[in-house]
Amino acid sequence: MYQGSCLCGKIKYRLLSKPKKVTSCHCTMCQKQHGAAFATYGSLLKADLEYVVGKRLLKSYNSSGTIKRKFCGECGSNIEWSGSSNFPDWTSVTLSTLDTPFYPEEISNIYTETRQCWLKYS
Ligand SMILES: [Zn+2]
Ligand SMILES: [Zn+2]
Repeated sequence: MYQGSCLCGKIKYRLLSKPKKVTSCHCTMCQKQHGAAFATYGSLLKADLEYVVGKRLLKSYNSSGTIKRKFCGECGSNIEWSGSSNFPDWTSVTLSTLDTPFYPEEISNIYTETRQCWLKYS
């Protein structure tokens, strides 16, 4: 249905369902990890994220509590954010690693209190 890959292309995945919730996170951890003003994630059931190739290259960083941030060990592309104790069956995938178009109906901005001062958005 939806396909994605990392920068080097050694990891490829597909989503078997449309992400249910889309969030742009402005927390300082996402800023540091992505080297960007914010990170946009689409959340879906873990079972609906399928790695086609390169799953063994995934590295995982435990940023806080039970949270796991998964990225390509080869090129550093951030792919997954998961491990929330409130939503153990869910994962969040970085929307910008998708290779097929996806048009979220709504995007919520969270942790905007720590947004970068140079970022302008409406
Ligand atoms: Zn890669
Ligand atoms: Zn964040």
